[in-house]
Amino acid sequence: MAGTKPDNHPGSKTVKMCMPHWEDLKKTIEDRGLMGLVASDGKTAVENLVSELQEGSNPQNYDPLMAAMLAIWANALKYGGLYLMSQDDQGNDYCPLCEAQKHGIEAAEWIALAADGQVEMARGLKLAPKIQ
Ligand SMILES: [Zn+2]
Repeated sequence: MAGTKPDNHPGSKTVKMCMPHWEDLKKTIEDRGLMGLVASDGKTAVENLVSELQEGSNPQNYDPLMAAMLAIWANALKYGGLYLMSQDDQGNDYCPLCEAQKHGIEAAEWIALAADGQVEMARGLKLAPKIQ
């Protein structure tokens, strides 16, 4: 698995999630057959994200990995609150999934929900042919 695919890490400025959970999310997006829609580098991922926020999702800017991350963040903010946007005592960013787990929520469940949501989204955008 490792080393055979392009690096899909948008970099620390855009990935507000710990590495293990980011890897879990990526793996789940891959399992759903959506990896072909994910930007291969951080610059493109950010450009897509900006475009998506400004213009809404379209087949050109849609990135299931970023969208899933945003969905998880939206959930975390809804349940956890805005403190998640700040940093902990050590100056580290919070991981929404680690925080959710501290509150008894299964991170894997949120990841699966977010990934399933992207399957629907991709179908809605007529990107389904890339999905088996
Ligand atoms: Zn985490």
